[in-house]
Amino acid sequence: MLPVIALVGRPNVGKSTLFNRLTRSRDALVADLPGLTRDRKYGEGKLGERDYIVIDTGGISGDEAGIDKAMAEQSLLAIDEADVVLFLVDARAGINPADEMIADHLRRQQKTCHLVVNKVDGLDPDVARSDFFALGIGEPLTIAAAHGRGVTALIDYALDEL
Ligand code: GDP
Ligand code: MG
Repeated sequence: MLPVIALVGRPNVGKSTLFNRLTRSRDALVADLPGLTRDRKYGEGKLGERDYIVIDTGGISGDEAGIDKAMAEQSLLAIDEADVVLFLVDARAGINPADEMIADHLRRQQKTCHLVVNKVDGLDPDVARSDFFALGIGEPLTIAAAHGRGVTALIDYALDEL
């Protein structure tokens, strides 16, 4: 059985960008439109010697109605299916109420989870991540999914911890 990695977080934090990088496909939709990926999407990937399954989700906006509610349900199912959850937040946006809601949910789960601060390109990663300790999910890890920075180290770390 391959380890299953779920990517969760509110819309527009870069989940699909990371999914594409992890699967080296162009299948997951990436766009500036928040919430474009509405279902969960599975991909197989390999980084270095490690094979895994990764699940992209539409995201949890924290104010769910209609399609947003369906997206949030998909995210909760993905968390259940995963061996490890990568909880993405946006370094440029700081913490928002949806991040806090997701953090509350994850803290109540018995699931290995890592907090991933994305979009640190052009920022000092230590400064960028400092705000996010407040989410109570442990040490924030930093990446720039669009550029690949930190991604191999993140996956090595996440799969080593299993
Ligand atoms: P999702 O809604 O969480 O799946 O987010 P997307 O992957 O669709 O990305 C949302 C936006 O953030 C897009 O405009 C991406 O190009 C941008 N983005 C994703 N990763 C990075 C990154 O590492 N750095 C920067 N600057 N932008 C990024
Ligand atoms: Mg997406």
